[in-house]
Amino acid sequence: MSNDAIAGMVSSPVEWEPATMPQCKGKRRSLTVLGATGSIGQNTLDLVGRNSDDFEIIALTAQNNVSGLAAAARKFGARIAVIGDEAHYGELKALLGGTDVKVAAGPAAVIAAAAEPADCVMAAIVGTAGLRPTLEAARQGRRVALANKECLVTAGEVFMAEVAKAGTELLPVDSEHSAALQAMSGANPASIEKIILTASGGPFRTWSEERLAQATPEEAVRHPNWSMGAKISVDSATLMNKGLEVIEAYHLFPIEAEQLSVVVHPQSVVHCLVCYTDGSVIAQLSSPDMRTPIALSLSWPQRMTAPTQRLDLVSLGTLSFESPDETKFPALRLARAALLRGSTAPAILNAANEVAVEAFLGRRIAFPNIAHCVERCMESAESSDLIRPAVTLDDILAVDGEARRLAHSQLDRYV
Ligand code: NAD
Ligand code: MG
Repeated sequence: MSNDAIAGMVSSPVEWEPATMPQCKGKRRSLTVLGATGSIGQNTLDLVGRNSDDFEIIALTAQNNVSGLAAAARKFGARIAVIGDEAHYGELKALLGGTDVKVAAGPAAVIAAAAEPADCVMAAIVGTAGLRPTLEAARQGRRVALANKECLVTAGEVFMAEVAKAGTELLPVDSEHSAALQAMSGANPASIEKIILTASGGPFRTWSEERLAQATPEEAVRHPNWSMGAKISVDSATLMNKGLEVIEAYHLFPIEAEQLSVVVHPQSVVHCLVCYTDGSVIAQLSSPDMRTPIALSLSWPQRMTAPTQRLDLVSLGTLSFESPDETKFPALRLARAALLRGSTAPAILNAANEVAVEAFLGRRIAFPNIAHCVERCMESAESSDLIRPAVTLDDILAVDGEARRLAHSQLDRYV
């Protein structure tokens, strides 16, 4: 993207000269963090802070948290700081006054920051908003550490085609997919029989249907094992997160949809198991702390030190496994159906879910209505032309917009 093109797209001026090569001094690796103020973004910067001789920050982005973004940009000496919401441009500029940090605002500036050459881009924006910036980073042909699973869920074919075209190194950040990568490293794809993703079961695993109907947003985001952003925490409570991860795994790994399965494992210690044709099963274990998979995505194929709690198997004592309850938690079934249906079905599922989760977090709908809304939207999409082949990101984003409208009209029926 040329400087003129960028300047024409953002309401605030982009003040930096786009570079053509990664900017790094000595052996330090240059890193951009998209979604720097979020849970994954902050865990990434925690690791960077502990290994400051190894990393140099190129760009940091956030949507609204202007003080958090400014603090991180100062602390890590970022070259560029971009706030997605243009209303905060003046405040960000003032907060970074007296520093060399270049400041910009707006969605196009977030994309421009993603395009800025870096050895690695951590893609940690939540939701469909991450699509364009992450795709832009993938087009750079360097490393993308992918936390934003929505890219693969909604635009898997388009995204993976760009990754292949640019020769981008795509490293999964999702703990289950990071585990799968490790458990299948060096394996012949033909020898893989099955991949089993584990799910914690979320905070409502043992709740009755009656109690689920009363679940509050506070209870839904209080995950028993993981500390995460609000949206993915609700997805963990509905099991939609695991459904999205099945779709993510389908695009990441050389495997058919039928070879992907899910088992509930309440301790969240075993993250994924890869089953081979000779009966071997290789699993990856670690305590539930996202800094382990984030560290691997930054250092692969090497390993870096992460300050996570080490596993003590004796004090853990028991690891347990059970089947997911798809009657109480239908989201997993809906996601699997969308994957099998193909075309834009997963994008519709994701868009409807984002709208429904936001409504639940805003106390406008009850917890079971999240999956109910998604199911009704999938049915309506089936009887219209919304499920159709998509060739470009614009095709997908058009369907995403239509699916959101569908979801909003469904939500009106719950009030
Ligand atoms: P979060 O809500 O904590 O943070 C989201 C980040 O995205 C913030 O920095 C926010 O400012 C930015 N953002 C939000 N809306 C934006 C927009 N419209 N434009 C630009 N930036 C925007 O989310 P999170 O939990 O860190 O999750 C980030 C991604 O990582 C999600 O896709 C999630 O599914 C995935 N993920 C998270 C975890 C986890 O443990 N948190 C684990 C696996 C995968
Ligand atoms: Mg996960």
